[in-house]
Order: sequence, then structure tokens, then C-alpha cells
Amino acid sequence: MKKLTKILAIIAAMALLSLPTGCKKDSDKTTIEQVKENGYITMATNADFEPFEYKDGTEFLGIDIDISKKIAEKLGVELKINDVAFSAVLQELANGTCEFVAAGMSYDETRAKNADFSDPYFSASQVILVNSDSSIASADDLNGKKIGVQEGTTGADYCEKNLEAEVIPFSKHVDAVSDLIAGQIDAVVLDDFPATKFVEKNADKIKKLDTPLTEETYSIVVAKDDKEMLNLVNEVIAELKSSGELQEIIDNYQDALGAE
Ligand code: GLN
Repeated sequence: MKKLTKILAIIAAMALLSLPTGCKKDSDKTTIEQVKENGYITMATNADFEPFEYKDGTEFLGIDIDISKKIAEKLGVELKINDVAFSAVLQELANGTCEFVAAGMSYDETRAKNADFSDPYFSASQVILVNSDSSIASADDLNGKKIGVQEGTTGADYCEKNLEAEVIPFSKHVDAVSDLIAGQIDAVVLDDFPATKFVEKNADKIKKLDTPLTEETYSIVVAKDDKEMLNLVNEVIAELKSSGELQEIIDNYQDALGAE
């Protein structure tokens, strides 16, 4: 009986070890071969970044979601979405629990050491949100102030490197904006288009300052040296650009929310 228990325990342990992980990597297959065999592709994102990725109930919406669907479509597979903290998305890629990241991810030299960035699909910048009645008029006025940022973002990095301010990390932009409106912090630094969406929803309370702090471009990100996957993503982006579909997708999220 004891022996049987032991054998059962060994069988259970073996079954656990062979359990599929998020992307079932089989070393002799390329990512694309594996994805086709699985019948799905997994992308990692942080769905707190309207209009690029956000949720309406349980449904994921946004520009990156639409682009990701095109990538899945190109491969003839289903799209799965891993919604994690922004500061964890690249780790998902390194862990092999997703095949690509679509998260309004700005190209950044440090990031590009450990992952490969696609051709850009959107030009972005960091901007400042303040309360409507704030006396802060430009980046120069931010010194000595409390600034909310999302952890792990280029906005957080910019503030830490360039300002003599108290930089307060939040896991979600929406929480930083709530604290701004509540008067707990003096400003929020974040990407331009998402900032516009926050202003649309709180037009009587907050405003966006005109001068952009940075110039950035968004890429889809794949595992380091996964050339085949990178080429496929670049092909999809090139097709979306030349057909005008990329612009249509972007316009769709501007119009749907009555923006700009
Ligand atoms: N574009 C910024 C970055 O790459 C922020 C992205 C985000 O918050 N999803 O860091």
C-alpha cells in the first residue's frame, strides 16, 4: 500500500512537471510553429491604458487589442490576453508566458537590450496633467512637487531623471489621477493619448499642459532574437499602415469617445 502511494505520488509529480505553461515552448519548434500547433497566441498587456488597452466589463478593447487581433488573424489562431501590471509585461515575455507584448510600450534602449521592438506604429509623448485650478504651467513648476506616475513607465523614468520632485509610483494610472483630483498629489505624468482620455472624463476637474516632455514611439515587443516572430509582427504593421487600416483603428477610438 505504501509502495502504491509512493508510485502515485511520483506519477502525480510527473504529471505536474509536464503541465503546459502559458505558451508550451518546445525547443525544436519556432514560436510560430508552436503557436499554430496550439491554435492560439498569447499577448501580455496592462489594460489600464485607454485607448490602447482597457476593459468594458470582461471585454478587452483598444488600439493594441485590435492590432493584436490582426497578428492572431495572420497566423490563423485565437488571441489570448494576459492582463498584468505594466511593470511585469516584459517579464512575461522573458518567462515565455506570452509570445508578444502590446502595451503602448515605448522604445527604450535599456528595454531593447532584453527584448526586440517592432517597427513603430504610434508616436507618443509624456505630458503633464494637473487640476484645472493649478498654478503649475510647465515642467519647470514641477520641482518640489508631488508627481504621480505609473511604475516602470518612461514617464516615471523621465521624472526620476529630470525633476527635483517627489515622484510617487502607482500601479495604475487611474489611481494616480484619482489622487490628483483628491488633491493628494500635484500632477500626473503619463502618455499623451491616455491623458486626453482622462481629461475627457474629468473635463471640469483636470487639464493637460501643452508642452510635451518627451518624444517616443510605440512598438510591439517580442522575445530577444526571435527574428521570425519579429518579422511577422513587422509585416502586419506594414500592411495595416499601407492599407490605411491602422489610421482607421486609431480614429475609431478617437471618434468613439468623442475626442480631439
Ligand atoms: N509608453 C509608456 C512606456 O512605455 C507607458 C506605457 C503604459 O503605461 N502602458 O513606459
